[in-house]
Amino acid sequence: MTTAVAAPFRFFALHVVRTRRLGPSLVRVSFAGEDLRHFFSDGRDQSLSLFLPHPGQDAPVVPVELGWGSSRSSAAESGGGWWQGWRELPDDVRAVMRSYTLREMRRDPDEIDVDFVLHTPAGPASAWAGRARAGDRVLLLGPAVADNRAIRFQPPDDTDLVLLRGDETALPAIASILASLPAGRRVRAWLEVRDARSARHLATAADAEISWLTDGTCLDVLRAAPLPPAERPYAWIAGESGSVKALRRHFVREWGIDRRRVTFVGYWRQGMTEEQLRAAG
Ligand SMILES: Cc1cc2nc3c(=O)[nH]c(=O)nc-3n(C[C@H](O)[C@H](O)[C@H](O)COP(=O)(O)OP(=O)(O)OC[C@H]3O[C@@H](n4cnc5c(N)ncnc54)[C@H](O)[C@@H]3O)c2cc1C
Repeated sequence: MTTAVAAPFRFFALHVVRTRRLGPSLVRVSFAGEDLRHFFSDGRDQSLSLFLPHPGQDAPVVPVELGWGSSRSSAAESGGGWWQGWRELPDDVRAVMRSYTLREMRRDPDEIDVDFVLHTPAGPASAWAGRARAGDRVLLLGPAVADNRAIRFQPPDDTDLVLLRGDETALPAIASILASLPAGRRVRAWLEVRDARSARHLATAADAEISWLTDGTCLDVLRAAPLPPAERPYAWIAGESGSVKALRRHFVREWGIDRRRVTFVGYWRQGMTEEQLRAAG
C-alpha cells in the first residue's frame, strides 16, 4: 500500500504588493501571488528562504526547472536538482538567498508579510527591502504543510513559563509567537532594539511581561535578575549568534534550565554574510 504524503516545502512565485515603514530600521513587505493558495503554516517562528534579484535583474534567478534532486525536505538537504544548479551559477547572477520569518498570513486575498531589518552597512537583502516597490518579483521556498520543521518554537506540554529573547531580527518571530499563545500562558520576554522608537505594542492573550532593552544589554540585565519562579520553563533565544550563545549559556548554567528545553537559533553573525554563516555551520 502506498500513502500519499504532501511535500512539506515548495517554491512560491510572489510579487510585492505594498511596503510600510514600521520604525527607523524595520520595513514590512507584503507579498501576494497565485501560488499562495498552496501556502500553509502554523506560524510562530516559521522560517522561510527568500530568493531575491540583484539590482538590474527583474526576477530572481533560480533554476527551479531542474527539480528537487534527491530530497524535497529542505534547501540544504536537496542533493542535485535546482540547489546544485543554483550554486553553480555565477555569484552576480544567481539569486541572493536569505532566511526570513513569516510575520503574518492572510486569506482572501492571499497575502503574507515579512518584516526586514534595515541594517548598516546593508547586505543585499536589507538593501533590496529598502528599495522594494509594488510589482517587484521574488521567489520563496516555504511551507506547503502547516506543521513543518521550519517552526522551531516547540514548548513541551508541561511548560509553566515561556522565556523569549531576541533582537530586532527576531522581533517578527516573537510577535507571531506571542500572538499564537493562549490566555493564561506565563511569558517573560526581553527584546533588544537599536532605537527605542522600534518598541511597540505586541498583541497577545498570554500573561506576558515584556521588557524592551537597548541593543546588547540583555545579558547584563539577566545577570542582575533571578529566573522568574517556574518548575518547568522553556526558553527560545534568537538574534546575533554570539549573543545567542552567551544567553543560552546563562539560561543553562546560571539559571539551571534543562538544555533540552532551550531552543536557540543564530539569525545572523556580526561581520559575516548569511552565506558565510551557513558555510561556517
Ligand atoms: C531562521 C531565520 C529567520 C530570520 N528572520 C528574520 C526576519 O524576520 N527579519 C530580519 O530582518 N532578519 C531575519 N533573519 C536574519 C537575516 O537573515 C540576516 O540578518 C541576513 O544576514 C540579512 O541579509 P543581508 O543580505 O541584509 O546581509 P548579509 O549579506 O547576510 O550580511 C552583510 C553584513 O551585514 C551584517 N548583518 C546582517 N544582518 C544584520 C543585522 N540584523 N544587523 C546588523 N548587521 C547585520 C552581517 O554581519 C554582514 O557583515 C533571520 C535569520 C534566520 C536564520
